[in-house]
Amino acid sequence: MNVSPNRMDLGFYKYQKEFEEKALEVLRSGRYILGGEVEAFEKEFAAYVGAKYCVGLASGLDALWIAVRLLGIGKGDEVIVQGNTYIASVMGITINGATPVFVEPDEYYAIDADKIERAITEKTKAIMVVHLYGVAADMSKIVALCKKYDLKLIEDCAQSHGALHNGKMTGTFGDVGCFSFYPTKNLGAFGDAGAVVTDDEDLAKEFRTFRNYGSEKRYYNKVVGANSRLDELQAGLLRVRLNHIEEITSEKAEIARKYTEGIKNPLLVLPTVPKDSTSVWHQYVVRCEKREALMQYLADRGVGTLIHYPIPPHLSEAYAHLNIARGTLPITEKYADTVLSLPIYNGMTDEDQKYVIECLNAFEG
Ligand SMILES: *Cc1c(COP(=O)(O)O)cnc(C)c1O
Repeated sequence: MNVSPNRMDLGFYKYQKEFEEKALEVLRSGRYILGGEVEAFEKEFAAYVGAKYCVGLASGLDALWIAVRLLGIGKGDEVIVQGNTYIASVMGITINGATPVFVEPDEYYAIDADKIERAITEKTKAIMVVHLYGVAADMSKIVALCKKYDLKLIEDCAQSHGALHNGKMTGTFGDVGCFSFYPTKNLGAFGDAGAVVTDDEDLAKEFRTFRNYGSEKRYYNKVVGANSRLDELQAGLLRVRLNHIEEITSEKAEIARKYTEGIKNPLLVLPTVPKDSTSVWHQYVVRCEKREALMQYLADRGVGTLIHYPIPPHLSEAYAHLNIARGTLPITEKYADTVLSLPIYNGMTDEDQKYVIECLNAFEG
């Protein structure tokens, strides 16, 4: 038996006819950048998330760095972020010349809210919360801290489309919610795509201007912006997928439920979700002290797995200049050394999943 860590083609075939019709419609329309599909997607996505505005952008990284930029954060400023995130969150900060201040994660892989306050300094301008693996972080304490210290709140929702905390969707707790629609994400495009959501009308307008060379009116440029436009084809295809997001999410939740129910091996730590939160199960991440052995054992049996992420940003070569030594963030580092993402994707068969569970339960270290 062969089970891949991910199968994106199955997600396409599930709604093949609708995707193909939409693609042809856009191709035949003669309108490929900033047209009706982008506008419609922005309205529909804002409504889905429960935010007033959505602005489509070219990627999740763009959403993050442009958000940091437009919130006025730059050189000399500090942004608090969890140590165990994907490196894009950190790049969103450092591209602007600002400094990331890493805080350890909690047992749910989210930023540990109880460790944030001691990381706040005179220079702190914002907290960036990453709803990692699809789990909505416990936002109440973090929102309160932002109020208390007058900090901006940026949410990295690249993995959490539709995840809820106290019934409210991720992306709506702070100033800006940043989304990626990279193909592997729960709401995935067929290329690069991203967006921000916000309730601030002026800020939404600034994003619209910034993404299009800083221009509101053709050839009149107000600011030095970027080319970060969501394109019509991706927007159209995202609209198709957004129409099915409940089904997409519940299918993954069902796979996660079966893993949690079926995996019985004391060598594995299974993922859990905070009591007032939901997960959309972007990843199903287990921990194992013998991770390398487990990964090899599974590979020998045809089961592919991935590590999200093997090198935490502070130990990455790209951030060597931050001079943060190994041992500074022991929980983050321990997670990086022990996490393993099991196969979870739309279209995964029961048979495949039973096989993965069987293999896991027979692993003896
Ligand atoms: C995927 C991802 C990003 C970056 O999104 P891109 O669209 O690939 O630029 C940012 N943050 C997190 C947590 C991600 O998983």
